[in-house]
Amino acid sequence: MRTTRTFAETRAAAAGPVGLVPTMGFLHEGHLSLIESAGRDGGTVVMSLFVNPLQFDRDDDLAGYPRDLERDVALAKEAGADIVFAPPVEEMYPGRQLAKVTVDIVTDRLEGPNRPGHFDGVATVVAKLFAGIQPARAYFGRKDAQQLVVVRRMAHDLSMPVDVIGRPIIREEDGVALSSRNVFLSGPERARARCLSLGLLRAADLVEAGERDAGKLTAAVAAEITDVGVEVEYIALAGQDLAEPLDTLDRSAFLALAAWVGGTRLIDNVHFDLSDDGFFADRGTRLATQSVLYAGSD
Ligand code: AMP
Repeated sequence: MRTTRTFAETRAAAAGPVGLVPTMGFLHEGHLSLIESAGRDGGTVVMSLFVNPLQFDRDDDLAGYPRDLERDVALAKEAGADIVFAPPVEEMYPGRQLAKVTVDIVTDRLEGPNRPGHFDGVATVVAKLFAGIQPARAYFGRKDAQQLVVVRRMAHDLSMPVDVIGRPIIREEDGVALSSRNVFLSGPERARARCLSLGLLRAADLVEAGERDAGKLTAAVAAEITDVGVEVEYIALAGQDLAEPLDTLDRSAFLALAAWVGGTRLIDNVHFDLSDDGFFADRGTRLATQSVLYAGSD
């Protein structure tokens, strides 16, 4: 495995079609599952590690974001990455970034209004990665459900020849969705965070029992989140194309939430995929052991 710092070096090191896994690093099994997916599809697997200043709406969040390149390189190698692209800020943003990518409508709700500028930052950095690395496929987690919609729509509307692939959420043993930000949670906060996934999994059971009303599904999630230490920002059902709010579950959709647990903002969701057999609730995959996120801590 190689570590590269520039786009040119990365393109030169890649052989055949590239599967790209964009990340901000501080890797966990969610990221590693994307590397494994890319590996199964063949070609050269490139994982990018870049904490993108453009997508942060709070300076303290950017400054405090966990980083450990050496650790990430070792984990990416073990998971089967061929190249880790870890550019310095000057490679990604050599001057003032005057060209930016905005994706309308699908950014109007959920994360969009709560994180001003976030999706412009995401779309712009992903567009730069697509242009600079020229992958045939790019892998994103369903954990960031709206981000996946935004990236798909960008690639479609800007005729980018990249297959955007979404993969299931990886959860910790107790159901909490893996996030690099989980390392910020204190012991009691980590215990409180459980109610978020419990609520979503409860709603998944209801959907499989026939419930289709968005209000009842969001209420079922809210009913699990009673701890005063957890502050909900939103709980909402959204169609997979995010074109309009959904009152009734009548198409593929996801039930998403954002909440503050102490000073840490967490997001989670459960997808409902409609096929000829009805709705399948994608509850994600649970780890059988403790996450690599906590390796080295007690
Ligand atoms: P991040 O480093 O948080 O920007 O995430 C990089 C990629 O990993 C994104 O496509 C995320 O959706 C994905 N990801 C993050 N957490 C998880 C998870 N728990 N399960 C699956 N994918 C994830």
